[in-house]
Amino acid sequence: MASRSSDLFAAAQRRIPGGVNSPVRAFRHVEAEPFFVERAQGAKVWDVDGNEYIDYVGSWGPAILGHAPSVTINAVCEAAARGLSFGIPNPLEVEMAELLCKWMPAIEKVRMVNSGTEATMSCLRLARAFTGRDKIIKFDGCYHGHVDALLVKTGSGALTHRRPDSAGVPQAFVDLTISLPFNNAELVRAAFRQNKNEIAAVLLEPIPANAGLYFPRQDFLAILREECTKQGALLIFDEVMTGFRVARGGAQEIYGVAPDLSALGKVIGGGLPVGAFGGKAEIMDQLSPDGPVYQAGTLSGNPLAMAAGLAQLRELERINGWKLLEKLGAQFEKVARDAISEARIDVTLHRIGSMFCLFFASEPIVDLSGAQRSDLKMFAKFFHACLKRGVYFAPSQFETGFISTAHTPEDIERTGAVMREALASL
Ligand SMILES: *Cc1c(COP(=O)(O)O)cnc(C)c1O
Repeated sequence: MASRSSDLFAAAQRRIPGGVNSPVRAFRHVEAEPFFVERAQGAKVWDVDGNEYIDYVGSWGPAILGHAPSVTINAVCEAAARGLSFGIPNPLEVEMAELLCKWMPAIEKVRMVNSGTEATMSCLRLARAFTGRDKIIKFDGCYHGHVDALLVKTGSGALTHRRPDSAGVPQAFVDLTISLPFNNAELVRAAFRQNKNEIAAVLLEPIPANAGLYFPRQDFLAILREECTKQGALLIFDEVMTGFRVARGGAQEIYGVAPDLSALGKVIGGGLPVGAFGGKAEIMDQLSPDGPVYQAGTLSGNPLAMAAGLAQLRELERINGWKLLEKLGAQFEKVARDAISEARIDVTLHRIGSMFCLFFASEPIVDLSGAQRSDLKMFAKFFHACLKRGVYFAPSQFETGFISTAHTPEDIERTGAVMREALASL
């Protein structure tokens, strides 16, 4: 069908690989072409053809206050008027570091970077240097950005495109990465036994949200904490998605487990390109210029990004955003469950606060293999049926949905009606 979006996508494909700058955006999983966004405000996005959607992707997580919130826009404009980038320390970097350490007490020192990928990559290098070991344990379906060593049985776009391992990663790197099923503590213990004094770190999303959304079993995180301490390995939580979304202190606050290092991103940048990693001071002090581990960034701690992130985080706290998000999330869960039970289709709904996933599969789903039992054809049909009716969910079964504080109860009510119609049409 002729549209401005399809013209743009045709042009994009001639000059950008796959027509996109990040693979999930290509809509391949739902066998379609993406729409191009004209603008976004609050919970809504408008495409270049004038269609309006209630958005549950929220830029894949950062837009926790909805799109273009005035506090953030004002903070960015004010910062921009003072200069876009200095490459010299600026006061906002100190404010951001103070805030991150206060909200996540396991973080004693923190470095800002420009993406979640950089954050996890730097955690790994630091863990290897600190422990003097090379191997790492990760979990099938957890996504940690496009770091070479972490593109083994990974989630998100790689999983969506049925290539959880990437070409171009040397076998030598893959050999250092042990990927295990999530939620299986026995296999972690066995891996430690088989690789005595070789494991530098256990790295995970404490709430895996890049292969759909599922949860750690009772005690799983505590067991990992205990094993890492016993074995002299570092525990690294990748809270790029969950950090400051599921709670003020992230998943580590909810589960009461303190990692040695944490990776952050998404919400802390308020929509600008930001990541951060931090943890125990004795580990972080290994970084250059104090220590031997090199890590740097021309634009790291960029004043616009700091201003956007600080404005968003402070506003979240001011309005007690997490309480509001839980309320909206609970309403979403109710309308979704009503729609699902009416349709009598096997759909498993998982939710924590403002994060959710509808798996087209039966329960229980506690790991990647469970998520992969989902009916992807059914998911794609559901996605299109909702999109046609003005509700935009992530274009892949293996992604998480996000509610923002800008979603109104009416938006969610309307979404419930759309889901009911969509499910009935399958
Ligand atoms: C999005 C994400 C990343 C990667 O962050 P980028 O900013 O896209 O590099 C890493 N880990 C998790 C858990 C994520 O959700």
